[in-house]
Amino acid sequence: MSAALDDLKQRLAEVYDLEKAAAIAGWDQRTMMPPQGAAARSEVSATLSGIAHERFVADDVGRLLDELAPLEAELDFDSDEASLIRVTRRDWEKARRVPPELAADWAREGGRAHVAWLEAREANDFSVFRPALQRVHDVALRWAELMEPGDSPYDAFLDEYEPGMKTAEVKAVFDVLRPELTAIVREAGEPADDSFLEGDFPLERQQEFLEGVLRAFGFEDGTYRLDPTVHPFATTFSRSDIRMTTRYKPTNLRALWAGMHEAGHGLTYQGTGPELARSPLYGNASLGLGESQSRTWENLVGRSLPFWRGRLPELQRLFPQLESIDLDAWYRGINRVAPGLIRVDSDEVTYSLHIILRFELEQELVAGSLSLDDLPEAWNAKMKELLGVDVPDDARGVLQDVHWTRAAYGYFPTYALGNVLSVQIWRAVEEELPDLDAQLEAGEFEPLYRSLRDRIYRHGRKFTPRETLERAIGATEIDPQPYLAYLRSKVAGLQPA
Ligand code: ZN
Repeated sequence: MSAALDDLKQRLAEVYDLEKAAAIAGWDQRTMMPPQGAAARSEVSATLSGIAHERFVADDVGRLLDELAPLEAELDFDSDEASLIRVTRRDWEKARRVPPELAADWAREGGRAHVAWLEAREANDFSVFRPALQRVHDVALRWAELMEPGDSPYDAFLDEYEPGMKTAEVKAVFDVLRPELTAIVREAGEPADDSFLEGDFPLERQQEFLEGVLRAFGFEDGTYRLDPTVHPFATTFSRSDIRMTTRYKPTNLRALWAGMHEAGHGLTYQGTGPELARSPLYGNASLGLGESQSRTWENLVGRSLPFWRGRLPELQRLFPQLESIDLDAWYRGINRVAPGLIRVDSDEVTYSLHIILRFELEQELVAGSLSLDDLPEAWNAKMKELLGVDVPDDARGVLQDVHWTRAAYGYFPTYALGNVLSVQIWRAVEEELPDLDAQLEAGEFEPLYRSLRDRIYRHGRKFTPRETLERAIGATEIDPQPYLAYLRSKVAGLQPA
């Protein structure tokens, strides 16, 4: 089509390869590497990421993008070629704003803060973390000043994960959720019994069950792995090499949902159009959209009544102690609503409240209206206000998440946006697939996967989150109402008969 375009594609493919080599080093670190390998591995990762970054921000890439501007103007906006040029330009201009010294400072201070955070958790004392947090926080604010000025200082952070989205948009959604979610928690009343999820659950049987679920979800043979880890994640090196992880414990069944969550991420990677391979267009349009799909397969499928109507007998065959649990008790237990201290253990209703808390605190930290000294107290006060719980100590409070060790502000809100988007998208799929419930019960996930793939996954990173949503379901705004209606009806259905 054009020599400049071929040249650009070739350069971007090399950058992709380098980034994926770094990703393989990262996957290995979190699944297989012996702990003593950490120091050597961080050198490997830093070198590979550094070379990838250097190649990407090169002047030559900018020259090629300039050269390609007239071609881009002639091409259809939705074409792969126009999208490649457009997205690369946006990524390139952002990456060029960050001097290598600042990127190095951020990586170094983030690493130090991570070490301090581990110590602080051990000591159960925020003040051990605070000085290192201050340093990485200051680097992050320096970085934000180099970004395009937004309407709010928080916009720069948000844009890293939700390209083009403004703080005000997120705030508008969360302002609707905040009072409604607290009301739904109240409606939920006494938490259901879920004690049957604890007990003796041999790992091989958990694995067997989960592998069966993944095959049924539609993963193609020979294209993926599911491995144990400490903090579950999913990554991908190509659409035919997808790595998912979960955290198995022989004493409970929670790995099943962590596994289905990561499988949702994995399906978005598998469903990306093959023509986007080895380019910056491979992946998700945003963290929120990616998370909407992990939540879809974890919750809308994996905590639904039809899914378990079909699959509970198999689970009971693997774990005979569950034979006395009937479907209704099982469904109530796995959907138990109970305000708690820890985000990653929280249920579908309270989860987003944990996120709103972090979003509100982060904005104040970025704006400078809240000092790090006052952070634990502010955290505890908001936990009381939003979830009605008293925080007994820092480890179960302000120190529970790893995200702030990198001062990764703007990351948390994407989790709640994912919850909201998952149901908004699901409504459109339900209209398209009137037999969806029967299919979930029968273990036929192909129609669901195909619908989501065609609506969302195949586009990869071609469009902004908003543009992707428009192509997926014809909406341009994030609408919290379907999510709230879903939760209300679910909570109503959980009441014992
Ligand atoms: Zn996720």
